[in-house]
Amino acid sequence: MARYTGPVCRLCRREGEKLYLKAERCFGKSCPVDKHVTAPGEHGQFRRKLSEYGIQLREKQKVRRIYGVMEAQFRRYFSRAARRPGVTGEALLQLLETRLDNVVFRLGFAGSRRQARQLATHGHFLVNGRRVDVPSLGLKVGDVVALRPASRGLAPFKEAAERGKKQGVPGWLEVDWPNFQGRVLRLPSREEIDVPVQEHLVVELYSR
Ligand code: SF4
Repeated sequence: MARYTGPVCRLCRREGEKLYLKAERCFGKSCPVDKHVTAPGEHGQFRRKLSEYGIQLREKQKVRRIYGVMEAQFRRYFSRAARRPGVTGEALLQLLETRLDNVVFRLGFAGSRRQARQLATHGHFLVNGRRVDVPSLGLKVGDVVALRPASRGLAPFKEAAERGKKQGVPGWLEVDWPNFQGRVLRLPSREEIDVPVQEHLVVELYSR
Protein backbone atom coordinates (compact mmCIF):
# COMPACT_ATOMS: atom_id res chain seq x y z
CA MET A 1 0.00 0.00 0.00
CA ALA A 2 1.90 2.98 -1.31
CA ARG A 3 1.74 6.35 0.36
CA TYR A 4 3.57 9.65 0.29
CA THR A 5 6.18 9.80 3.06
CA GLY A 6 7.89 13.14 2.32
CA PRO A 7 7.34 16.46 4.09
CA VAL A 8 3.64 17.29 3.90
CA CYS A 9 3.89 21.06 4.35
CA ARG A 10 5.76 21.08 1.05
CA LEU A 11 2.57 19.81 -0.62
CA CYS A 12 0.59 22.79 0.68
CA ARG A 13 3.31 25.19 -0.48
CA ARG A 14 3.24 23.58 -3.92
CA GLU A 15 -0.49 24.18 -4.19
CA GLY A 16 -0.12 27.66 -2.72
CA GLU A 17 -2.77 27.15 -0.06
CA LYS A 18 -3.42 25.43 3.24
CA LEU A 19 -4.58 21.83 2.72
CA TYR A 20 -4.73 21.09 6.48
CA LEU A 21 -2.66 17.91 6.26
CA LYS A 22 -1.42 18.09 9.86
CA ALA A 23 -3.47 18.42 13.01
CA GLU A 24 -2.78 21.31 15.44
CA ARG A 25 0.10 22.80 13.45
CA CYS A 26 -2.22 23.90 10.63
CA PHE A 27 -4.05 26.21 13.03
CA GLY A 28 -0.94 27.56 14.78
CA LYS A 29 1.54 30.28 13.97
CA SER A 30 4.13 27.89 12.51
CA CYS A 31 2.24 26.95 9.34
CA PRO A 32 4.74 27.52 6.48
CA VAL A 33 2.01 28.62 4.07
CA ASP A 34 1.28 31.56 6.34
CA LYS A 35 4.97 32.53 6.16
CA HIS A 36 6.01 31.64 2.58
CA VAL A 37 3.89 32.31 -0.44
CA THR A 38 6.36 30.70 -2.85
CA ALA A 39 6.30 27.12 -4.10
CA PRO A 40 9.08 24.82 -2.81
CA GLY A 41 12.26 24.25 -4.81
CA GLU A 42 14.98 26.34 -6.41
CA HIS A 43 12.61 28.05 -8.86
CA GLY A 44 9.63 28.19 -6.54
CA GLN A 45 9.63 31.97 -6.39
CA PHE A 46 9.00 32.23 -10.14
CA ARG A 47 5.26 31.90 -10.64
CA ARG A 48 4.33 30.98 -14.19
CA LYS A 49 0.97 31.55 -15.78
CA LEU A 50 -0.67 28.13 -15.97
CA SER A 51 -2.19 26.67 -19.13
CA GLU A 52 -5.70 25.21 -19.04
CA TYR A 53 -4.11 21.77 -18.69
CA GLY A 54 -1.88 23.03 -15.88
CA ILE A 55 -4.87 24.40 -13.95
CA GLN A 56 -6.70 21.07 -14.27
CA LEU A 57 -3.59 19.13 -13.26
CA ARG A 58 -2.99 21.26 -10.17
CA GLU A 59 -6.62 20.81 -9.08
CA LYS A 60 -6.34 17.04 -9.44
CA GLN A 61 -3.10 17.03 -7.43
CA LYS A 62 -4.77 19.10 -4.74
CA VAL A 63 -7.66 16.63 -4.36
CA ARG A 64 -5.21 13.71 -4.21
CA ARG A 65 -3.13 15.43 -1.58
CA ILE A 66 -6.05 16.42 0.60
CA TYR A 67 -7.26 12.80 0.76
CA GLY A 68 -3.78 11.25 0.72
CA VAL A 69 -4.38 9.08 -2.34
CA MET A 70 -1.71 8.00 -4.84
CA GLU A 71 -2.19 8.48 -8.57
CA ALA A 72 -3.13 4.91 -9.58
CA GLN A 73 -5.68 4.59 -6.80
CA PHE A 74 -7.09 8.02 -7.60
CA ARG A 75 -7.63 6.97 -11.22
CA ARG A 76 -9.51 3.91 -10.01
CA TYR A 77 -11.74 6.14 -7.88
CA PHE A 78 -12.40 8.29 -10.94
CA SER A 79 -13.30 5.23 -13.07
CA ARG A 80 -15.76 4.09 -10.42
CA ALA A 81 -17.23 7.59 -10.12
CA ALA A 82 -17.65 7.84 -13.90
CA ARG A 83 -19.69 4.62 -13.91
CA ARG A 84 -22.08 5.95 -11.26
CA PRO A 85 -25.27 7.77 -12.24
CA GLY A 86 -25.32 11.50 -11.55
CA VAL A 87 -22.53 14.07 -11.49
CA THR A 88 -19.11 12.41 -11.79
CA GLY A 89 -17.26 15.05 -9.74
CA GLU A 90 -19.66 14.71 -6.83
CA ALA A 91 -19.53 10.90 -7.02
CA LEU A 92 -15.73 11.11 -6.92
CA LEU A 93 -15.80 13.21 -3.75
CA GLN A 94 -18.38 10.87 -2.20
CA LEU A 95 -16.08 7.90 -2.80
CA LEU A 96 -13.19 9.76 -1.18
CA GLU A 97 -15.31 10.99 1.73
CA THR A 98 -16.56 7.50 2.57
CA ARG A 99 -13.07 6.04 2.91
CA LEU A 100 -12.52 4.69 6.42
CA ASP A 101 -9.68 7.14 7.20
CA ASN A 102 -11.76 10.14 6.13
CA VAL A 103 -14.77 8.99 8.17
CA VAL A 104 -12.51 8.51 11.23
CA PHE A 105 -11.29 12.09 10.69
CA ARG A 106 -14.80 13.49 10.14
CA LEU A 107 -16.08 11.75 13.27
CA GLY A 108 -13.36 13.50 15.25
CA PHE A 109 -11.30 10.45 16.29
CA ALA A 110 -8.25 12.07 14.63
CA GLY A 111 -7.06 15.63 14.05
CA SER A 112 -6.19 15.09 10.38
CA ARG A 113 -6.78 12.54 7.63
CA ARG A 114 -3.12 11.62 7.82
CA GLN A 115 -3.40 10.84 11.53
CA ALA A 116 -6.65 8.95 10.88
CA ARG A 117 -4.90 6.84 8.27
CA GLN A 118 -2.19 5.88 10.74
CA LEU A 119 -4.70 5.01 13.47
CA ALA A 120 -6.73 2.90 11.03
CA THR A 121 -3.60 1.12 9.80
CA HIS A 122 -2.74 0.24 13.40
CA GLY A 123 -6.09 -1.54 13.73
CA HIS A 124 -7.71 0.70 16.35
CA PHE A 125 -11.13 0.55 14.67
CA LEU A 126 -13.92 -1.95 14.16
CA VAL A 127 -16.27 -1.70 11.18
CA ASN A 128 -19.59 -3.44 11.90
CA GLY A 129 -17.87 -5.24 14.76
CA ARG A 130 -14.89 -6.54 12.77
CA ARG A 131 -11.39 -5.23 13.26
CA VAL A 132 -9.96 -3.58 10.12
CA ASP A 133 -6.56 -2.15 9.24
CA VAL A 134 -7.27 -0.88 5.72
CA PRO A 135 -7.64 2.93 5.75
CA SER A 136 -8.94 3.01 2.18
CA LEU A 137 -11.87 0.71 3.00
CA GLY A 138 -15.00 2.18 1.42
CA LEU A 139 -17.89 2.48 3.87
CA LYS A 140 -21.53 2.05 2.94
CA VAL A 141 -24.67 3.67 4.30
CA GLY A 142 -25.46 2.10 7.67
CA ASP A 143 -21.90 1.01 8.44
CA VAL A 144 -20.80 1.53 12.05
CA VAL A 145 -17.23 2.55 12.88
CA ALA A 146 -16.23 1.96 16.51
CA LEU A 147 -13.05 2.38 18.45
CA ARG A 148 -11.76 -0.95 19.76
CA PRO A 149 -12.52 -1.31 23.51
CA ALA A 150 -8.81 -1.87 24.20
CA SER A 151 -7.96 1.49 22.60
CA ARG A 152 -10.53 3.62 24.43
CA GLY A 153 -8.26 4.41 27.35
CA LEU A 154 -5.43 5.74 25.17
CA ALA A 155 -4.60 9.42 25.60
CA PRO A 156 -5.15 10.49 21.94
CA PHE A 157 -8.67 9.09 21.99
CA LYS A 158 -9.54 10.63 25.35
CA GLU A 159 -8.44 13.98 23.94
CA ALA A 160 -10.38 13.30 20.73
CA ALA A 161 -13.53 12.59 22.75
CA GLU A 162 -13.21 15.91 24.60
CA ARG A 163 -12.59 17.76 21.33
CA GLY A 164 -15.26 15.85 19.43
CA LYS A 165 -18.01 16.54 21.94
CA LYS A 166 -17.61 20.26 21.24
CA GLN A 167 -17.12 19.99 17.47
CA GLY A 168 -20.05 17.96 16.16
CA VAL A 169 -20.04 16.02 12.87
CA PRO A 170 -21.37 16.60 9.34
CA GLY A 171 -25.06 15.79 8.81
CA TRP A 172 -24.36 12.57 6.89
CA LEU A 173 -22.71 11.03 9.96
CA GLU A 174 -23.77 10.50 13.55
CA VAL A 175 -21.45 10.04 16.47
CA ASP A 176 -22.01 8.38 19.83
CA TRP A 177 -19.13 9.46 22.06
CA PRO A 178 -20.13 7.46 25.19
CA ASN A 179 -19.71 4.31 23.06
CA PHE A 180 -16.86 5.69 20.92
CA GLN A 181 -18.63 4.95 17.68
CA GLY A 182 -20.20 6.58 14.65
CA ARG A 183 -22.47 5.63 11.78
CA VAL A 184 -22.78 6.58 8.10
CA LEU A 185 -26.37 7.82 7.76
CA ARG A 186 -26.25 8.60 4.02
CA LEU A 187 -23.87 9.72 1.30
CA PRO A 188 -22.73 13.35 1.69
CA SER A 189 -24.12 15.98 -0.67
CA ARG A 190 -21.61 18.31 -2.36
CA GLU A 191 -22.60 21.15 0.00
CA GLU A 192 -21.61 19.00 2.97
CA ILE A 193 -18.11 18.33 1.63
CA ASP A 194 -16.11 21.34 2.73
CA VAL A 195 -12.96 20.76 0.68
CA PRO A 196 -11.84 23.79 -1.37
CA VAL A 197 -11.68 22.06 -4.76
CA GLN A 198 -13.28 22.46 -8.16
CA GLU A 199 -13.88 18.81 -8.98
CA HIS A 200 -15.17 19.59 -12.48
CA LEU A 201 -11.56 20.45 -13.41
CA VAL A 202 -10.51 16.92 -12.43
CA VAL A 203 -13.29 15.48 -14.57
CA GLU A 204 -12.17 17.66 -17.50
CA LEU A 205 -8.57 16.52 -17.04
CA TYR A 206 -9.40 12.83 -17.14
CA SER A 207 -11.86 13.33 -20.02
CA ARG A 208 -9.19 14.69 -22.36
FE1 SF4 B 1 -0.30 22.62 5.26
FE2 SF4 B 1 -0.84 22.31 7.84
FE3 SF4 B 1 1.71 22.32 6.99
FE4 SF4 B 1 0.26 24.57 7.02
S1 SF4 B 1 0.90 23.35 8.80
S2 SF4 B 1 1.57 23.86 5.36
S3 SF4 B 1 -1.79 23.79 6.44
S4 SF4 B 1 0.13 20.81 6.49
